[in-house]
Amino acid sequence: MRLRIGLVELSRYYPVNQPTPGHEYCGIVEEVGSAVKSVRPGKFVIGSFFASDNTCPHCSFGYQSSCQQREFVGGAQAPLLRVPLADGTLVPTPGVPAKEMIPNLLATSDVLGTGWFAADAAKVKPGMTVVVVGDGAVGLLAVLSARQMGAERIIAMSRHEKRQKLALEFGATDIVTERGDEGVARIKDLTKGAGADAVLECVGTQESMMQAIRSTRPRGYVRYVGVPHGVELQGEELFFAHIHLHGGPAPVRRFLPKLIDLVWTEKIQPGKVFDLSLPLDQVAEGYRAMDERRAIKALLQP
Ligand SMILES: [Zn+2]
Repeated sequence: MRLRIGLVELSRYYPVNQPTPGHEYCGIVEEVGSAVKSVRPGKFVIGSFFASDNTCPHCSFGYQSSCQQREFVGGAQAPLLRVPLADGTLVPTPGVPAKEMIPNLLATSDVLGTGWFAADAAKVKPGMTVVVVGDGAVGLLAVLSARQMGAERIIAMSRHEKRQKLALEFGATDIVTERGDEGVARIKDLTKGAGADAVLECVGTQESMMQAIRSTRPRGYVRYVGVPHGVELQGEELFFAHIHLHGGPAPVRRFLPKLIDLVWTEKIQPGKVFDLSLPLDQVAEGYRAMDERRAIKALLQP
C-alpha cells in the first residue's frame, strides 16, 4: 500500500554519514494492495518502525517488534511510503486529526512508543522511584510515560536546561546533572542508599548503561531502549547486581491503540518534543540542529 504522509520525523537509528531514510510516520492512506483487508484509503493511520502481522506467536505475546514476519519500515522521509503487512502494522485514528494534533500523534510512532515500552517493561506503578538516563526525545517521553503509570518519584538525568524544563513539565520530580560514578552516587543519595526501583536507559553508551545498572536497587529493573553502541557488560558485575535487565526495539504496535487514545482525548502532549519544524528539503539542517543539540527533535513537513 501507499501512504500519503502527513508528517515525518527524523530517524534516530542510522549513523548520519549517508542519506537517511527515516522510520517514523503517520498520514492518510492513499492506496491499498489487493490482500489488504482492514486498512482503507482516506483513513489517517500510524505505524511504527517494524511492520508486523500482529498474529504470529511473538505478536500475540506482545512483541510485535520480534514478529516472525517483521520487516523494517524505512523511507519515511518522503512524500509517499509503502508499508508492508498493512493490516497488522497500521492503527487508524478515530478521525482525521486537526493539524495541531498531528505532532502528538507522530510522536506515538516511535519516541513515545519506545519511552512507554521502557516504563511498561519496568513495571512502573504508583509509589515507585524511577530514574531516566538520557534527555533526548525518548528519555523525555519515558518521563511522561512513568508519570502516566503513577511513579511517585521520577529522577531525570540531564545537563541541558531546555530539556530539564521539558522533563519537569512531563512529570519529573528531580533533576540530576552528574554522570558516571558521580551520577550513581547522586541517585544513591536521593534513594537513602538503596538505588531506584527502575532505571530507564535511553542513550545506549557504555557510560549510560553502567550508570543505569549501578543506580538500580537489588530486585529492581533496568530497561534499555537506547540502541547500544559498543556496550560490553561483565558477567560477574551483572551476577552480583541482582537486577532485571531487559531491552530491545520497542513493540510500539502493542501500545499504539492506548497511546493514540491518550493523545486523542488530550491527556498527553508528547509532540512537545518537536521544537523544530522544517520542510522536507531542509532535512540536513534538521539533523545538524539535533546533532548540535540545538533541537530536541525535528519534524519534517513534506
Ligand atoms: Zn507477528
